[in-house]
Amino acid sequence: MSETEIRATYPYHPYAWQQLFWQQLDELLVQQRLPHALLLSGAEGIGKERFAKAFVARLLCQSPRDGVACGQCKSCILLAAGTHPDCMWLTFLTDEKTGKTAKSIKVDQVRELVEFSAKSAQMGGWRVMVMTPAHLLNTQAANALLKTLEEPGRDTVLLLLSSQPLSLMPTLRSRCQQRALPVPTEAEALAWLAPQVGDENKARLLLALSRGAPLAALSLREAEWFSQREGLLRDLMQLAQQRQTALATAQRWHSLGADSLLTALLSLLDDLVVAASGAATVVKHRDLAPIIEGMSAHFQPAALLRFRQGLADRQRLLAGNVQGGALIDATFSDWVALTSR
Ligand SMILES: [Zn+2]
Repeated sequence: MSETEIRATYPYHPYAWQQLFWQQLDELLVQQRLPHALLLSGAEGIGKERFAKAFVARLLCQSPRDGVACGQCKSCILLAAGTHPDCMWLTFLTDEKTGKTAKSIKVDQVRELVEFSAKSAQMGGWRVMVMTPAHLLNTQAANALLKTLEEPGRDTVLLLLSSQPLSLMPTLRSRCQQRALPVPTEAEALAWLAPQVGDENKARLLLALSRGAPLAALSLREAEWFSQREGLLRDLMQLAQQRQTALATAQRWHSLGADSLLTALLSLLDDLVVAASGAATVVKHRDLAPIIEGMSAHFQPAALLRFRQGLADRQRLLAGNVQGGALIDATFSDWVALTSR
């Protein structure tokens, strides 16, 4: 890749909805009041990493313009190429063979970071460390980080990103200045999302199903379960009417994977519960509203809520390495037991 191509792929600017937040941090920087440890919190899919990338570039840039990295200097190019000597970006490891991601940030990774923080800057400016998602620091790793947070080197900034800041160890949290990144308004989110989706109604639907988080909405469009929602609803109805068996249905859904299936069912159940309680106008799966409203009349809200609770429990089990296929089988059996008559 040429330098121009490398630079073109790096996000030197924050998203439009992060502009005000950006200015606030920039003011701290200009006034030399930037804290050494910043915990940037905010929901999944609102652009925390993009913001961090742009801000790191702004910190390291040798000639920022209007409070934004120039994208031209040596520092900006090294950063875009991923070879800046004064920046360390830490996240969970991915196993190259299996493609599986680790469920935590390990102590060895933090030790590398501690070592890095003790060195002086090679390019004469800031040294920046980013850790994301910070709530995945295991206890040992968090402990290893504490000392660095207490005695940071000169011109050193540590950015911790997290969608679950309360899951961080309190001792760690108390040593950081916490700031919440903004969720865009619907208009801001649509202005960004609709041109990429090419359909404003679909963009609204995706946003509604993603709690207004634009990046989450964009990846939802590609999610396999999103295109299979209608088939899943119809299977639930068939099962409740005992027109097919739980086992045969479960086998058909194995290929989707337990994680996606549980996510899909939770999302649909939220709507079924709402519709069964008589509040059909706030159904989020707008395109499927007639089916959802029709179905909801057949079920007791209490039974739907119990099934929903079971889904949430299974999601937790899945995080703990329980076998996915068995969870899918149990999920459909559970639905039959709660709804068929
Ligand atoms: Zn620059």
